[in-house]
Amino acid sequence: MRVEGIEAARRILCVFPRYTSAFGTFEYAYPLTDGMKAFMPPQGLLVIAAYLPAHWHVRFVDENLTPATTEDFAWAEAVFVSGMHIQRQQMNDICRRAHQFDLPVAIGGPSVSACPDYYPSFDYLHVGELGDATDALIRRLAEDTARPERQVVFTTKERVAMSDFPLPAYELAEVRRYMLSSVQYSSGCPYQCEFCDIPGLYGRNPRLKTPQQIIAELDKMRECGIADTVYFVDDNFIGNRKAALDLLPHLIEWQKKHGYVTRLACEATLNIAKRPEILEKMREAAFVTIFCGIETPDADALKAMHKDHNMMVPILEGVKTINSYGMEVVSGIIMGLDTDKPGTADALLSFVEESRIPLLTINLLQALPKTPLWDRLEREKRLVLDDDTRDSNVEFLLPYDQVVSSWKRAMKLAYEPAKLLARYEYQCEYTHANRIKVPVSPELRSWKNIKRGLIMLRNIFWQVGVLGSYKRAFWSFALRRLRHGDIEGLIGSVVIAHHLIMFARAASSGRQNASNYSLRLREASVPAE
Ligand code: SF4
Repeated sequence: MRVEGIEAARRILCVFPRYTSAFGTFEYAYPLTDGMKAFMPPQGLLVIAAYLPAHWHVRFVDENLTPATTEDFAWAEAVFVSGMHIQRQQMNDICRRAHQFDLPVAIGGPSVSACPDYYPSFDYLHVGELGDATDALIRRLAEDTARPERQVVFTTKERVAMSDFPLPAYELAEVRRYMLSSVQYSSGCPYQCEFCDIPGLYGRNPRLKTPQQIIAELDKMRECGIADTVYFVDDNFIGNRKAALDLLPHLIEWQKKHGYVTRLACEATLNIAKRPEILEKMREAAFVTIFCGIETPDADALKAMHKDHNMMVPILEGVKTINSYGMEVVSGIIMGLDTDKPGTADALLSFVEESRIPLLTINLLQALPKTPLWDRLEREKRLVLDDDTRDSNVEFLLPYDQVVSSWKRAMKLAYEPAKLLARYEYQCEYTHANRIKVPVSPELRSWKNIKRGLIMLRNIFWQVGVLGSYKRAFWSFALRRLRHGDIEGLIGSVVIAHHLIMFARAASSGRQNASNYSLRLREASVPAE
């Protein structure tokens, strides 16, 4: 549902800022692919683009693919920007560039919604979700595109129901150049983990789209050329279990209709392992990966951060259960917790070995504004806000250098090539074998698809197998996959593993941030440059 009664036509330039290089930016993986350059298209900005009046002209530029040009700014009448805290400096830089063209610049999204004071130069702040603030901003720009004399803040009081969200404007994005595509079914999470800003920003009672909307989004993605992997960016896919169960039969039908050419992934709490009725349907819908915020294998630490729900089943058992439904687990891990001890890195490394989880995002604890953690540390005077040489804004209980060197050690050892590829081998042999067997569809057998696979194989063999620095571990893994005829397992594992290995090497030698949320800016070699 769009704002009504707008007559003036406008030209809006939506710019998504580049990411500072981080574990989850996957830049080492892209040279092995057939032209991918970025991780996921930004949902939020594409929804806003679709929400603008139908007669407004919209351009979308993701600076992770290509920078906004002088011609883009010269064309526009106003600029919209959105992003997360980690993109703060880049967002402020887009604002600076737009102001050189005397354009009004509006910022929305999670970072400004939590911390409006990070963005003093912007003309319009859009705080909160899609709603009456969005309508007010649109009306304001319809009336006047001159820059206001002082900053104007629009705050959403009434949100647009998710069931009224428009289909994201995928047609504006170069969707083929992303590693994954994204879809959002629900927003919010019923839990209250101490470090997490989701319940504060999006609420504890998940809001939902309808299954029909999700199917329409998936259809639109196919029309726009996205087929491979679609990631549900919901804060917690089982935040409302009934809703998940309502959606899954629609996904299964959709997959059957299109020959299962799309793999699905999502984020969910580990207690999903207690829900075989959900896991079975996810298996049938071809979910292949679940990101679980395991955070730590230490039960005392989970209790302290109010994440007791991770202990509803023993963690290793939970991971194994998810694997038994054909889904790999990706895990978030936090180091630098108050409960950490000198032996925490060793305990974590044992957990990595035992769980056989290949991909773990190991971050140093970072306090986000508007979280219970932030409030507690503020009370305890343990927030460090004026030192941008640090990788965390938390004054740890253990000495900072000790925590950082534990993190570096954990990264180095967890991503030692032979060990990482052994964990991937387990996933190929055990987890993948538990997936449903479906006939290979004509789309997957097409020359276009085969050509993509051949390009990736060529890149992998040349760049990792010939020029790489861990050839022995690679060939030992690759030859076994080839003997099994598992080309998909070979490509899928190595593309990700290569990023993890290269990133971990940079991290353990101090060339990368220890937190995905760190505001410390290091120059990222993004493809756009
Ligand atoms: S379960 Fe996940 S999304 Fe929910 S509050 Fe905890 S960390 Fe945040």
